Amino acid sequence: MEKKIGLFWLRDDFRTVKNDGLIEATRNHDQVVVFYLYKQDTYKDQEAQKWWLSKSLISFRKKLNNYNISLQVVETNSFKIFFDKLTKKNNFVIYWNKVYEPDYLKFDEYLSSNLKKKSINFKRFKGNTLNEIDEIKKNDGTPFKVFTPFWRAAEKYYIEKVPSKEKIIKKCIKKKNYFENCIEPEKILPRKNWFENFEKKWLPDEENALKELQNFINDRISNYSEGRNFPNIVGTSKLSPFIKFGQLHVETIWKECVKKKSKTIGTSKFLAEIGWREFNHTLINYFPHMLKGNYSKKFNKFPWEKNSKFLTAWKKGLTGYPIVDAGMRELYSTGWMHNRVRMIVGSFLVKHLLINWKEGEKYFKNCLLDYSPANNIAGWQWVAGSGADAAPYFRIFNPILQGEKFDKEGEYVKKWVPELKNLSKKFIHKPWEYKDKNFKLGSDYPFPIVNHEEARAKALKAFKQI
Ligand SMILES: Cc1cc2nc3c(=O)[nH]c(=O)nc-3n(C[C@H](O)[C@H](O)[C@H](O)COP(=O)(O)OP(=O)(O)OC[C@H]3O[C@@H](n4cnc5c(N)ncnc54)[C@H](O)[C@@H]3O)c2cc1C
Repeated sequence: MEKKIGLFWLRDDFRTVKNDGLIEATRNHDQVVVFYLYKQDTYKDQEAQKWWLSKSLISFRKKLNNYNISLQVVETNSFKIFFDKLTKKNNFVIYWNKVYEPDYLKFDEYLSSNLKKKSINFKRFKGNTLNEIDEIKKNDGTPFKVFTPFWRAAEKYYIEKVPSKEKIIKKCIKKKNYFENCIEPEKILPRKNWFENFEKKWLPDEENALKELQNFINDRISNYSEGRNFPNIVGTSKLSPFIKFGQLHVETIWKECVKKKSKTIGTSKFLAEIGWREFNHTLINYFPHMLKGNYSKKFNKFPWEKNSKFLTAWKKGLTGYPIVDAGMRELYSTGWMHNRVRMIVGSFLVKHLLINWKEGEKYFKNCLLDYSPANNIAGWQWVAGSGADAAPYFRIFNPILQGEKFDKEGEYVKKWVPELKNLSKKFIHKPWEYKDKNFKLGSDYPFPIVNHEEARAKALKAFKQI
């Protein structure tokens, strides 16, 4: 056993199962301290995630207590300043898992060389992906830009890899604190208390994540291919915030899914969605310019329009298109939105309203509990048509037909837009055709802010310009 203390830098890995860095630290040291560096700056536009983060810190601290490990939260404005100060001492070995975002990986390089210079031992481990992001390349050594061949190669590579022996976390001999001037996780909670709704819907801890995974595998995965399209039912896993914060490792998800002997179409489809996440993480690292703007540079000339009235109506769920409004209200109320509806509301913003996808990306970032730069930015650019392997811009979702196809009875709309609860399925996705003395369009529910056919024609004209 190492005499020095083991420090584990906790980032997006709030778990004890398949947490390589943390597990290794507990196997090498009698005393381990887990620390989280809270940068206010990072979270200033991620209000919803402040709630998830705060709750995750509280539940993980409790769990680590059982292993005699303390979790300390340190507030800092700069990782560099923090580590420059920390490495003045040399009484520890430091462990962490990778986060596959360019800034994190760049900082890892800085930190590693600094630690080497100071002869401080450290160990860096694979993060929350199936493969390392640079392991999957085309035969000519260049990165994949299209999902299907990427996933074929990535899946094969993962299956053929010799699995590493799974280790488990060890109980430390004695609990100890290491850092001074720490903050309590409650301090991180957002100022506005709209998150009270989240408390009724989500329980951000590892135990619950594992339980939700089992529920999904037992009850829903076999029908996932079909069920995932309909927002009125719980047909997907709803695991995204747990995956983002690392309460679940995707290798654990994979393992539990294939444990079921018959790999159904549902399982394959579900794992392919995990594949999209994997693909997006490779994209943002190979093409980091897409984190700031369009992956496809021809979109830099797109004639976006600025219209704060439309943008506000979209955010508030008051566009007059029921499926769009239902999605936006679900997002604000629960911190999550169904994937089908993310595509519909996204398409509506960029194609019907001609508003730059970056505005939507920013709003989602602030409201989503599962926000991740890779998935959000790639998701928005997929919708806008400016991304790699994206939906072509000229394919414009018709919000009425999308509603009629994926929310046939209007149940989803009625749940989130109760003003429309009395409308039959004939009118639920086009309330402007509903005539009833007790329902007044314009006061009970807004007129559509744009006309679908006109907006479509305008979008196609704008697209022709590029
Ligand atoms: C405009 C837009 C923005 C998005 N922003 C995010 C985001 O910030 N964070 C995020 O995790 N997902 C994002 N997505 C992808 C997707 O909508 C969510 O991952 C999914 O809805 C989460 O619900 P679930 O866990 O029930 O998914 P399931 O269908 O159960 O899928 C399982 C997991 O696979 C991954 N996944 C599923 N679909 C996708 C996808 N299309 N792309 C990448 N990964 C996927 C997620 O980790 C998800 O938890 C976005 C999609 C769009 C169209």
